Amino acid sequence: MSAPNVLFLAIDSLRADAVFGDHIPTPNLDRYAASGAQFRQCVSTTTSTTPSFSSMLTGCYPPRHGVRGLQGYRLSTAVTTMAEAFGAAGYQTHAEVTGPLVPETGVLRGFENAVHRPGYKVKPFVWRDDVMERMSSYTEPWLMLLHTWEVHRPYRPAPDYVRRWDKGGYEAVVAMSDEWLAPVIEAAGENTIVVITGDHGEEYPDTRMGQKMHRAATKSRKKFRLDKWFPYLDKKFAGMALGHGFALWEHLVRVPLIINGPGVAPARVEDQVRHVDLFPTLLDLCGITIPGDIDGRSVKSLMSGGTLPEEPAYMEAVGVKLEGDRIAAIRTPDWKLMRYKSDRSKEVLFRLDGGLPPDEKHNVLTRHPEVAGKLGAFLDRVQAIEADPDSPLSESDEAVIEQHLRDLGYL
Ligand SMILES: [Zn+2]
Repeated sequence: MSAPNVLFLAIDSLRADAVFGDHIPTPNLDRYAASGAQFRQCVSTTTSTTPSFSSMLTGCYPPRHGVRGLQGYRLSTAVTTMAEAFGAAGYQTHAEVTGPLVPETGVLRGFENAVHRPGYKVKPFVWRDDVMERMSSYTEPWLMLLHTWEVHRPYRPAPDYVRRWDKGGYEAVVAMSDEWLAPVIEAAGENTIVVITGDHGEEYPDTRMGQKMHRAATKSRKKFRLDKWFPYLDKKFAGMALGHGFALWEHLVRVPLIINGPGVAPARVEDQVRHVDLFPTLLDLCGITIPGDIDGRSVKSLMSGGTLPEEPAYMEAVGVKLEGDRIAAIRTPDWKLMRYKSDRSKEVLFRLDGGLPPDEKHNVLTRHPEVAGKLGAFLDRVQAIEADPDSPLSESDEAVIEQHLRDLGYL
């Protein structure tokens, strides 16, 4: 058979339990998971869109690829992108992206054709027919990155999905995406490796009571000027943040990862894999040489029942709400060590015990100093990497990025 095409579907803000759990109906995604390799413990590198895509598309952690926030950074020219690697191997490369992934960030470098569509204030999936039409004219073999915004806040599910699922919106937009994206995946054809993942997870109130509490907290912060009169309470309420980007809790970093297509047998992988492993794994599956000097590794052998030595996952939170502070973490299936950029003494260690159910309330650092020391040393090693000094972001590019972030409600 000729070289397979690759459809890389990244659904923004898609949590692992939204697909692998059974509280949201995702019959189509479930079908792709059941007939392909499903990675049950995949973690994203950051909880913000642009840095997260930079890691997925280069196999590198942020210190190496250089994109450490939504604005003010441009992808290092020293790293090889997925589009560059597939392009060099004779693939036609297409990107259909949205949200903050504008070309000025450098993240789309290497894509022969890149279309950026507005993510906000447009009807959900209004773009689908146009994208499918363009897909039908691709020359094989092709690589296509499809990034969707429908699961991103503010959720705007069609009314019938709201009636059928939740009023809060998240579960409705996930169910809606499952239904609306299935024809796109089908249209990719049989000789296509389909990758489905989320760029990071999401914090949303998943109970009626939770929804009410969030609404009340937001309202009272404004109405009673809590920041002025009761700063402690204000901070506490603000801490009930929704969305993503501001922390590295499990539901914010655990994402689904499904790889389906020619030569991929059904497999359920419980080992921890990382978003930085995606790029080398895809190259491996397509018989393309993996560039040196990346942080990820091919996990292809796990898809056929093999084993690999455990590799810790580095992650960082760089969201706008952190106001320049950065939370970094090292995760293994059993432990998570977190460190704040502003204050190293604020290091905390959580026991995950394989991730089910994780305990992210009790800091066990003083009880396990040897674990903290080992993970801390790994964190230091990753952070010591310095991205190649790059052509700095020009003022006009920075202005374009800022305007997009404003339109999306980030600033
Ligand atoms: Zn995102």
